[in-house]
Amino acid sequence: MQLKHTLLAATLLIIAVRISVADAPAEVYLQVAGQQVTGPPAPCVENNLLWGPVDAVARALGAEINWQPEQGRLTATAPNGQQLQWEVGVAHFWQDGQEVSLPALTSVAGGVLVAPLPPIVEALGGELSANKELIRFYVTVPMSQPVIRGNDEGFAIELETNGLVIGEVKYLDDPYRAYLNIHGARPHSPSGRRYIGQCGVWRLRWGQFSDRPPIARYVIDLKEEQQVTWLPRADGRGGSLIVGKFEGDEPELPIRYPQLERIRIYQTNNQATVVQADLSLPAELDYEVLAQPWRIRLHLRDARITQQIPRQRGRGEIIKGVEALAADDGVIIEVYLDKLMRFDIEKTDTQQAWQVRLSFQKARLCDKLIMIDPGHGGKDSGARGRKLLEKDVNLDVAMRIAQRLAAQDCTAILTRDCDVFVGLFDRAKFARQLAVDAFVSIHCNAMPRPDTNWGTETYYYTPQSNMLAVILQQQLLEALGRKDNGVRQARFVVIRENEIPSVLVELMYLNHQQEEQLLSKPEVRAAAAEAVVRGLRQYFEGRPDMPTIQTTVNEENATNKAAQ
Ligand SMILES: [Zn+2]
Repeated sequence: MQLKHTLLAATLLIIAVRISVADAPAEVYLQVAGQQVTGPPAPCVENNLLWGPVDAVARALGAEINWQPEQGRLTATAPNGQQLQWEVGVAHFWQDGQEVSLPALTSVAGGVLVAPLPPIVEALGGELSANKELIRFYVTVPMSQPVIRGNDEGFAIELETNGLVIGEVKYLDDPYRAYLNIHGARPHSPSGRRYIGQCGVWRLRWGQFSDRPPIARYVIDLKEEQQVTWLPRADGRGGSLIVGKFEGDEPELPIRYPQLERIRIYQTNNQATVVQADLSLPAELDYEVLAQPWRIRLHLRDARITQQIPRQRGRGEIIKGVEALAADDGVIIEVYLDKLMRFDIEKTDTQQAWQVRLSFQKARLCDKLIMIDPGHGGKDSGARGRKLLEKDVNLDVAMRIAQRLAAQDCTAILTRDCDVFVGLFDRAKFARQLAVDAFVSIHCNAMPRPDTNWGTETYYYTPQSNMLAVILQQQLLEALGRKDNGVRQARFVVIRENEIPSVLVELMYLNHQQEEQLLSKPEVRAAAAEAVVRGLRQYFEGRPDMPTIQTTVNEENATNKAAQ
């Protein structure tokens, strides 16, 4: 017996020596459920296989450990009651009595049992991942679905897992929110949210904040500054986020959704036309301008309609009607328009309701500061036709726009007024610094191969730029009569860096023979410039033409002045 053991040990030694000659074990970083496992013995990689101390890994995964060094036997009771057992010098272990094979023999180092870790991590419910170089290893534990218990005075969001995890709460403002990071964990679903709507808490959201190192993040969207506490479970396997007063035996809270309660259309004292939607809880909002028929579509994500909301007819000359529809992922409010013009979207939160207001208010173009941006310049010529360079056409059209606006007593600022290079980020920065009311970038298009496409298109990026893009495209099509390539959303630097309504127009294709000829004509450039001015007027004033009444008033003023 004694001899047999000695022989076995000798064989193992020889194998170990051979392996170390072939591929020396390399110490690696191993994190289990957010905690670094250091050993001894330190985790290492040998022949592309992760080895490490089984007891430390099992303990971090929530198991209770019993190590009997004389027998060379390690047993573990997992949080779910499962029994695992390892023995020294064998290439398997037992999971509830069933044999699970290991890719190599277990052994003892530094007084503890070491084994290839991947099958063991899997048996204990962990998920092993590594970086490309196999130097950093992470064992992630899955979190349970959040359970929310409480009443009007407070509640707890309970999160459970099988690993000994550490949570930390931090706060952010604008808007107020608290977030919990759980290191070494992943949420039960890749991302999600749940509406709460009490104790000043709007909702809970979750997602995987990072994969390596793994961090599960739970965000609590707050209505105001509010204390959120992380209370770990006694056994360390998760904990609760507490808001307000919570005793511990409160019932589970029902799942709630933002309810659309009513829609109103009204006129304010300062002549704005407003569509207002009242909801029971804040909902995520996005919006876009759609054609046929012209309308603004508000999309309230996750919202529900409980009672029938009748279709309403518009007031004044801007809104034709408003309709609310239930969609798969929320509520859609269609605001049908009689006329296209700029609008504002505002959200307010009161004690009883959350309101979205879409308002239209006419303004005078001449009270607005407009920035016109002739694309390219200097060393950057932009697109090339047979004769024309884009930078020259853009500058000429932009100068014509500025001149026309000046002739109508309105002000435009140019990002360049000669053939010079200006960086894209600088152009966007000028617009921001001067807090202009609209930004229009003038360009001409080109295809990789000449004469393959033609027509007019307008680009925007942010939703607040959508309406200006729609209006300018319409005016350009009317004035130039080219093919309608549509209004498109794209991340061009000059239009994505601003909160300001910012659009980029591509008048025509410079490497299309017929369109280059058109662009060489002063009257076509004048028509393009006129279209942009008409579009801007439509956008701010609700109609493209100069109001005739204003001329009369000016004449009267002139006469009065002459008489004085
Ligand atoms: Zn260009």
